[in-house]
Amino acid sequence: MIIASNVSKKFGKLVALDNVSLTCNKGECIALIGPNGSGKTTLIKSILGMVVCNSGFITFNGKNISHDWKYRERIGYMPQIGRYPDNMTIGQMLEMMKDIRNQKNSLLDEDLIIQFKLNELLDKRMRTLSGGTRQKVSAALAFLFNPDVLILDEPTAGLDPVASEILKEKIIKEKEKGKLILITSHILSELDDLVTQIIYMQEGSLKFHKTIEALRLDTGQEKLSKAIASVMINA
Ligand code: ADP
Ligand code: MG
Repeated sequence: MIIASNVSKKFGKLVALDNVSLTCNKGECIALIGPNGSGKTTLIKSILGMVVCNSGFITFNGKNISHDWKYRERIGYMPQIGRYPDNMTIGQMLEMMKDIRNQKNSLLDEDLIIQFKLNELLDKRMRTLSGGTRQKVSAALAFLFNPDVLILDEPTAGLDPVASEILKEKIIKEKEKGKLILITSHILSELDDLVTQIIYMQEGSLKFHKTIEALRLDTGQEKLSKAIASVMINA
């Protein structure tokens, strides 16, 4: 579904992505893990076309994404930090996004809007929202257009435990429908019952890409956090 071939990206002298290659298929929930600054967000933004790589290429369903934008309507993206027009209300934001995405109301997935009770906050302006509520809006927008691919950058950061659990259940539900989920998180314990594969990034390089079973088998550790720790110690 998404293939990256030898993707590199430099910001000045800094190598943010160093010859990264990967394949992501539908029905997978792939965790992107790595220390701060290891290139996770840059990789995500490259897939979205928000960062243009210096070399290599990315395909979406077999088609090169450069100079293309149509594929983006198949993706729901929850950014690490959502930035919205301060003076718009939640309701106006939702309407604006529906206009931009130009999708029929019947295809909308309002699960998260309902479960996060955003319907009760439609008149609130974006600038007045707490960090957690802003995250809820970002999450609801990512799922709203029923995309084939969900790219979630630190989705549970700032969410309270109840909201976090709602979002996790939603991710599992969509994965089971055969969607592709790419997710980054620092809280490895949260990913345990969610992900099918792990990609580990370090200093812009992809260190490994394994199924969770293979990682467990290789490390003898059941828990993701322990398995990753064991890989890092032995690296
Ligand atoms: P992660 O998401 O893994 O924490 P990022 O992909 O955000 O890492 O960043 C990787 C590296 O690229 C970091 O050193 C970061 O400072 C740098 N970087 C990211 N975006 C930019 C940018 N727009 N301009 C300059 N440097 C950037
Ligand atoms: Mg990041």
